[in-house]
Amino acid sequence: MKKKKTLVIGLGISGFAAAKFLLARGVPVVCVDSNDNETLRSRARILEEHGAQVQLGVSDPTGLSTEQVVVSPGVPSRILKSFIDKKIPVYGELEIGCREVTSPIIAVTGTNGKSTVVETINAGLNQAGKKSFALGNLGTPVTEWVDSKQDADYLTLEVSSYQLETIEKFHPSVAVVLNIAPDHLSWHGSMESYLKAKSRITQNQTIEDALLLHKDLSVYPILQKTRGRLYWFGRDLDPSRDGLSLAGDLLEWRGAGPHWKSQVKVDHLFPHEVENLLGAVSVLLLLGIEPDQAITLFEHPLRLPHRIEEVGVHRGVRYLNDSKSTNCHSAIAALKAVPTDSIWLVGGQGKGEDLSELAHIARDHEVRLAICFGRDGEIFSAGLDPEIQTRIVPTMREAFDLAAAESRDGDTVLLSPAAASFDEFQSFEDRGEHFRKWVNDLKGKES
Ligand code: ADP
Repeated sequence: MKKKKTLVIGLGISGFAAAKFLLARGVPVVCVDSNDNETLRSRARILEEHGAQVQLGVSDPTGLSTEQVVVSPGVPSRILKSFIDKKIPVYGELEIGCREVTSPIIAVTGTNGKSTVVETINAGLNQAGKKSFALGNLGTPVTEWVDSKQDADYLTLEVSSYQLETIEKFHPSVAVVLNIAPDHLSWHGSMESYLKAKSRITQNQTIEDALLLHKDLSVYPILQKTRGRLYWFGRDLDPSRDGLSLAGDLLEWRGAGPHWKSQVKVDHLFPHEVENLLGAVSVLLLLGIEPDQAITLFEHPLRLPHRIEEVGVHRGVRYLNDSKSTNCHSAIAALKAVPTDSIWLVGGQGKGEDLSELAHIARDHEVRLAICFGRDGEIFSAGLDPEIQTRIVPTMREAFDLAAAESRDGDTVLLSPAAASFDEFQSFEDRGEHFRKWVNDLKGKES
């Protein structure tokens, strides 16, 4: 980064890391954040000690004078646009960090499953003896990793559409797109610009590189653009396409390197986990990992907290925490993963999505009772199929109590809200931790 005056907007984990990274390179930095709380104040003190100017509680930074801007994911798009209109370059933390990365990058994007797939690829690479790190939303920001001065054979990065919007030189050797469903549309403006942002993942690829797409994405030609090789993954892949296909329990690779086939056990996996694993295994194969080694990933799927996580069994009722489900697409995956006749907690701060497919899947998977809660509880209840029994309650706590009262031995209670958490909680983690605590409290009452 040239030593131009830089405005860092947003002092979350990635913005804070970006500011430290720039200061360490002698770049003059001004930081702003629309919030003002103790965590931000302590970050501000550290940055000020290193020479930054910091202003908290600034909701409109568009009037500030600067030569370039570094934005955090989720900073409103009108703010980015106002700088871009003034011909001031706007970057994300990913872009500035990756400019100093020399190891090959594997970048994973998609509406859902990014964190899980990034961690799975990283685990697979490490198990195969490669020195690899998973970076991005879930863990260490790229800029922080760069400054830790470690070597790596590979870096696997989780890349959101927000970050892709502001890339310039970002260049993954392998780019993976898992799935696309309407999400963050109010930020991107339309499905078209959301797809356009995702498609930027390959904009700097060369003939040496590879793009891996889930087979359902064949309907979006915009995503198929790359100067590298294009591969696909999914169940029952069309034989004309190169990539990784699963037919029943037969896995088959067609494409770079020798063709091979192998039997894998998939009965223990959730349907969307199979798709995620096909993506992760494809990456390992493209990187030259032995097939026998790569497919061991199917044996023990990596399940992260708050993603269809079993948090307890009380009086024979199994409680599943899928608080990370913040859109309809992920809630659909959860409903397909749990047994029929389940009790489902849905609601919170919805994203104004069309609920018809969610309603259809809930009916097909015979949800016994949908308890709709939070700010948009009524909207969810109204959008579900009349054949499904629904109840509306104001808060998630009340939804939980009702689920506990209505459930019986052998039931599953699933929290998969299909909505953001901010109407009642700090974050999806906070929402999931409350759910976990309430389940533990039930168990405590029993003993
Ligand atoms: P991301 O990082 O993209 O948000 P996560 O791995 O954190 O993805 O999962 C987010 C939510 O999406 C969870 O509720 C999870 O169960 C669900 N999910 C994971 N993989 C998929 C998939 N392939 N299709 C649909 N939903 C998925």
